[in-house]
This record gives sequence, structure tokens and C-alpha cells, in this order.
Amino acid sequence: MPDSTSIRIRFPDGKEELFPIGTVVRDALARWDLAQLKNALAASWNGVPVDLASTLSSDGTLAPLTFEDRAGRDILQHSSAHLVAKGLVEVVPGARPTHGPPTDDGFYYDFDVRPLTPSDLDGVRAAMDRSVRAKEPFLRRELTRTQAEKLFAENPHKLRYISEVPEGEAVSVYDTGDFTDLCKGPHVPTTEWLQGVHILGFSAIAPEDPTAPTLQRIRGVGFPTRGELDTYLKMRTEAEARDHRTVGAKLELFTFVDEAPGFPIWLPNGMIVVHELERFVREHLDAAGYVEVRTPLLFAQSVYETSGHWDHYRKDMFLTEAEGRTFGWKPMNCPGSMLIFRSRARSYRELPMRLAEFAPLHRFEASGTLHGLTRVREFVQDDAHIFVTEEQVESEIRTLLAWIERAFATFRLEWSCELSTRPAQFLGEAAVWDRAEATLERVLKSSGVKYRVSPGEGGFYAPKIDIHIRDSLGRPWQTGTIQLDYQMPLRFGLEYQGPDGQLHPPIVVHRTILGSWERFLGVLLEHVGGRLPPWLAPLQVRVLPVTDRHTPASLGLVEELRADHLRAEVTGTEESLAKRVRNAEVDRVPYVVVLGDKEVAEGTVALRVRGSRETRAFSRAEFLAHVSERVRKREFDP
Ligand SMILES: [Zn+2]
Ligand SMILES: [Zn+2]
Repeated sequence: MPDSTSIRIRFPDGKEELFPIGTVVRDALARWDLAQLKNALAASWNGVPVDLASTLSSDGTLAPLTFEDRAGRDILQHSSAHLVAKGLVEVVPGARPTHGPPTDDGFYYDFDVRPLTPSDLDGVRAAMDRSVRAKEPFLRRELTRTQAEKLFAENPHKLRYISEVPEGEAVSVYDTGDFTDLCKGPHVPTTEWLQGVHILGFSAIAPEDPTAPTLQRIRGVGFPTRGELDTYLKMRTEAEARDHRTVGAKLELFTFVDEAPGFPIWLPNGMIVVHELERFVREHLDAAGYVEVRTPLLFAQSVYETSGHWDHYRKDMFLTEAEGRTFGWKPMNCPGSMLIFRSRARSYRELPMRLAEFAPLHRFEASGTLHGLTRVREFVQDDAHIFVTEEQVESEIRTLLAWIERAFATFRLEWSCELSTRPAQFLGEAAVWDRAEATLERVLKSSGVKYRVSPGEGGFYAPKIDIHIRDSLGRPWQTGTIQLDYQMPLRFGLEYQGPDGQLHPPIVVHRTILGSWERFLGVLLEHVGGRLPPWLAPLQVRVLPVTDRHTPASLGLVEELRADHLRAEVTGTEESLAKRVRNAEVDRVPYVVVLGDKEVAEGTVALRVRGSRETRAFSRAEFLAHVSERVRKREFDP
């Protein structure tokens, strides 16, 4: 029975249980699901990361945090930074640690210390190993301001951080062995979690304030196990070889110029790939009852004020002035679709209304963050807005999940979903959120989809499902997202007439599946190492006549292939056959066929299988049928 000494804890699977006040996070998770506790390095309490050793004193939502969660990953990186600081203070006793945050690809720690040397780092590595072997716990202590100032009296950087802690908030430190660092936490339970920490290097950092001392930055990356670190180090070499910027230049897919930073220039080969992707997506849209629209790239400021972009997104938008008015280049397609829905009276008979739009979108990404095709300023998404009634949400999401399954299977990409639920600050009624979250989770569960729940990570207007893929190098990427939106229809005053004759606001499902062509292609090129599946390859068949005598027959074959809508060409015979075969391999052409005396006489072709030395003999008719079929079915490999 609930009373003043118990609290109610809700877990990610919706289970709720009563616990005594003061229950330790670790114990609560153990009672809920021992197997999930094993992978937990910390926990999320009402959306805020906490130590497994912390205690709970109110009702709330509790979820384990693992290395797979961004917040969990960050905790492990930051704990690794502590371990580096512990090691450096041991090796260079006068070193003053400043701060050591997690980053997108690891962590760093900045020190106020004499210039470091490589042998300092060897010492740090040895000290780190000792600490990991000793399985030292990270212990949290809360101090008064005076105690903290005394403890860090020798370190002006930490004294400044202490002075920045808001009045009334506890000053906390973490002990690891004999090392103590000022820190809000949370941390992994012990250094046993830091077996896969790796120091990548060090450099001098010029301070922003010219009167401040130059700092020494040690950079690194952490994994929970040695094995995961080894995989990462191996993968890093392979990833460099597969970098889509290099592959894209070699295959002449796209290029960039300084005069348009972050704006891809698509070359003829690249346009073929983009069009094939579009065709693939449009076939699904036609079958699933979508219609396509096109809305302006620029809207006046007032439209974004209505949509909320002006308040929340303006700094990421390109703006332009005309006739004294401010226009914004659209960063998303939503406003245009809302205006289409509002353009005349709507009836429930028109729902679900599925509006797809492939328009260029513009977002102001800082120049330092631009990266090939995976972070650009102009891109096109496989975007759609679906206007539905509440009863229609479930079947729409179900259809979307089936499409996601088919789409990613086509590219042999593993995928999973992340359901992000109500954050601490949200718009609308809690009951509506509960219903929406329950619907999404029910569909995910019954569709047999691999998913996990991120409590409190939803947008402020609606819960969402993010789609994550894993490429052949094991790297995770977020591609698409499905968001249920109750707010934007209200902001635009959208209504439809229901069967009851009354006016109701529709719900909008914003969804993009592959994400943008740009980012998806960047990921795909690295996933396949440039060996695009035949249906996407700019050139599908290259015919190599052995000598000039075989050129007429080769041209005849290419004509037949082109008549079948295949992309084919003949090479000249200036270079040796062996050289031409190698070139075709470098150009990643899926089908390379050789025509010599024997083939011409017998009406056959010798097909070289991409990535192998093997050749297979086909009659010309068989070959045509074979290639057409592989391409039509969008088979992954020749
Ligand atoms: Zn810390
Ligand atoms: Zn949208």
C-alpha cells in the first residue's frame, strides 16, 4: 500500500512498483530486471542521468543507461577523462586538472601543466592500467563550499568552477582511489568499466582569454571492454579507406567548391544514383497512397512564427530580405504542408492525407561542423506529412515500420528504433501523451521491431521514434524519424469536419525514413566501400572487346542492354585487356563482360564477377535476362 514511506517507480516497460524511500538505484533496477542491470553503467531518473549508487526519495521514472545510450556513452567517456587526470597527477604531481568533457567521438581533459612529452603519456597509460586492474570505485561526496575551497585551494580553475555553482546547490566531488575531482557526475560504478580506454594524443590549447595560461589537452576514447576498443581501432583504419569523400571523388558522384561550402554539387554519375533512390522511394509512396506536393523554398517570417521555427530554429536558418520583408529558406517541409491542408475545408473522408515532398532544404550548419555529404547545408529528404485522426495513428505507424523493414533490407543495413517519451517540459495534456506513447510502443512491440525506450527524450510537442542503422563497420547512424505532432496543427488552426459534423484538429505524423539523400548516400558509400548495388551503380555493365575485331559485336550488346534500360558502355582497345579489367574493378562496375573470338562465334559473353577472378559464360539472352532481373529486383550484389 502506498504511504508516506514508499515511492512509486515506473520502469521503461511500463511496470510500476512501490519501493521504500531511500532505495538505491541499483537495487530498484535489480528488482525490476537483473539482466538489464548487468549492462547498466548508470541510470536515467526522470530523464536526468544519475549514479547507480544514488538514492531515490520521490515518485518517478527510472531506466538503465548503457553504453548504447548517448547519455551512457558520454558518462563512460567522462569517467575515462577522470582516469586520465588521475594518471597525469600521479606522473606530473604539479599538474592542475581543469575540465574533461565527453565529445562526439570520445573525450578530452585540459590541464594547466608544463608542456607534456610522449613519455608523460606512457606514464599516464601505466597508471591508468593499474587503476583499472584495481577496480577502484567512483565515490561521490557532497561538500560545503568552504570544504571544497579548502580541498582545491591550489587549483584556481577548480576554485572558479566552485564559485559558479549556484547558491543552495551542493558542491560534489568524486573520489577514485586517492584522486579527487570536482564533478557533478554521474560516473560509471568502478574503473573496471574503463578497460577499453585509449589515449589518442595530446596538444597545446591556446586559451580564449589571452592572459590565461596555455593548457595541455589529452584526447582519448573509451569503451567498456578491450575487445570493443580493438574493433574500433581496426575499424578506424578501414573507415579511412572507405571515406565517402574519397570514394565520391573517385567515382565522380559529387564535389564541393569553396564558394559554396556545405552545398553539394551533384555530378552526372551522382544524379543517376539520386534518381534511382528517388524512384525506389516513389514506388513505395505510390503503393502506400501518398501524393506528392511542392511548396516554396522561401516563406515570409510570419509563417515560421506560426510554425514555431522562428522562436526555436531561427539561428539555424538562412534568411534573406526582399521588398522590405524577411524571408527564410525552409529548414523543413512542415510549414508548406500545413498551408496545403489549410487551403480549403477538409473532411474526415480525406484522411489519412499523405503529402510527400522532395524539396531542397537549407540549414545553417557552422562551417567547422561540415563533413562531406554527412553534414551539409543543402539537402533533400524523403519527407512526408501524414494528417490523421487519433484512431488512424496505429495503422499508419504499422505501415511505416513495414516500409522501413523493406527499405533497409534492400541496402543490407541493420536497423533499430528508439522511442523517446515525454520530457520534463512538455506541451499539451499528460493523458494525451500517455495514449500516444502507449500506441507507439504497442505497434513497435507487435511489429517485432528491435527498439529501446529513451524516457524523457521526446520533443516538447510530441513523442517520436528515431531510426538508427548500423553499417558494415558496426558504426551507428541516425537516419529517419517518425514524430507524432499534436501542436503544429493547432498553431496553424487546421481542422477537418468529422462524421459527427463537428470540426476537429488532425494529428500530423512527420516522417522521413532514409533521411536525406545526401547523408544516406554518404553512409551507404562507406557501408559498401563504393561497391553500389547494381540498381544504384551509375554504370551497370562495361563491355570489353578483346581486340578491335570484337568491337562491333560489343557495340551490339550495349545497344541491347540500353534497350532494356540498363546503363552500359564499351571500352576502346588501346589498353591491354588485363589493364581494362583492373580499371573496371577500380571504377566499381558491377558487371564486366569480355567478348573475344569464342564469344562472338558462339553468341555468348564471359561475365567477370565483381570482386573475384571468376568468369561465368552466358548466352547473350541469358545475360540480358540475368542483369535485368538483378537490377529490377534491386538485388544487393551481382
Ligand atoms: Zn566527472
Ligand atoms: Zn515536418
